[in-house]
Amino acid sequence: MISIEASLPTLYGADCRDRVQPLLASRYQSTVDSVWNLIGGDLEPPSLHVVHSPIARPTTLVDLNGHHLVYDQYLGQMFNRLTRIELLLPGANVVDAYVFKLFGQRNLIRGRWRQASAMASVSGVAANQQQIRSALVEPEDIFGFRTVLTHVQETFAIAHELVHSVLARNAGDELRVKFEPVLEAQRIHLEKAKLDLADPAYRARYVQSLKDDRKTLEDRRGIPNSGAPFWELSLAEDVAEIERRVVLLRDPTLIEEGICDYFGAIAAAETMSPDDDDRPTFYAAATLGLLHLRLIQYLDNLVDDDTEIRRSDDFDQSVLRASLLRTGLRTDVAARSNSASNVAEFDGIATEFNRAHSSSVLDQVLTVDLPGLTKKFMAFETKAEVDDPAHQGTIREFLGFGGIPSLTRHAADGLLANRNSLSRELIDQTVARSDSTDPTL
Ligand SMILES: [Zn+2]
Repeated sequence: MISIEASLPTLYGADCRDRVQPLLASRYQSTVDSVWNLIGGDLEPPSLHVVHSPIARPTTLVDLNGHHLVYDQYLGQMFNRLTRIELLLPGANVVDAYVFKLFGQRNLIRGRWRQASAMASVSGVAANQQQIRSALVEPEDIFGFRTVLTHVQETFAIAHELVHSVLARNAGDELRVKFEPVLEAQRIHLEKAKLDLADPAYRARYVQSLKDDRKTLEDRRGIPNSGAPFWELSLAEDVAEIERRVVLLRDPTLIEEGICDYFGAIAAAETMSPDDDDRPTFYAAATLGLLHLRLIQYLDNLVDDDTEIRRSDDFDQSVLRASLLRTGLRTDVAARSNSASNVAEFDGIATEFNRAHSSSVLDQVLTVDLPGLTKKFMAFETKAEVDDPAHQGTIREFLGFGGIPSLTRHAADGLLANRNSLSRELIDQTVARSDSTDPTL
């Protein structure tokens, strides 16, 4: 049996270890150690393998030597860039350039060179490096905040995988029991949503809000949206959708993902600060991390030409996971603080992040026909050109995987005073540990 270490180049690309920054690799190791301390009990921790590849997905693997966690440093760079976009709200062309690049990368990892090449070109057309750099110049106060948010998201993604590793060994019964009330709260939440929809006044407001969202999307690009008109669903269809989710709440895979999200977020917050008052921000950052992981999933589905995304199980799964995490974390904040103000703070920040993500990134993704755009641009590349290995090197380079990213180190300053209540000390510590996840890609 071939070892995990030896199979990494096959799974993540021949050069997947060349771009790993040693400082980050040791930081990820200390994240694994501190999270494992909280959730691992007497079990042997998985061995960590750090790679840097466009795949950007953390994975838990098992072989004869035990459990392994592969963490892809590029995921941190994605969290970083997306969060930066959400905090700075640059022009639509800059967001487009990044979305096209991401979509190109998702094609790249499936070996769809022509599509990847087309997206690399479209990305360059949307905005050039100079435009991107100047739109994403970060005031010092936002820099500190963004660094903390990125750090929480990475820790959340790693902790999520570590909880999988605990559950995979038939341990974690305690976690399952502790998760029961979260499932129950979610069930109640869905039942209430069903009742609400049956109230004509509530339903009218709900349909209107969907129409408003749609209008915002259409105004954004000045073209009618190509997706299905959500508000044309009948009450029976809306109720059926909720009922599908109630059934899905019993699905073992969904439950396991929910457990990993929930305890992953708690462990991430716990390793960063013992102060309960920091929880609202950390927990909200974890929900943002999950939205970012969903975005990658959405783009991957598009690569597979999954046009029925809203009707698919995947869609229900991801909506439910996001909702479960939020329900769980809200309950946790309430249980810790005995004060309603932390709960309100968590809800406020999580809503703000959700809105920033939707309005700056997700809406942008939803209003452009990415597969259609790819096809249009593919016409400019001949097959022979794209199949040429030298050309493929150029495509990889355009999509950010040609060389070794340069290191940058910033001096940090505090947060915007009204952003949140994290202490200056915590931010400085996080920045010092992060060194550089600053995306040069
Ligand atoms: Zn998972």
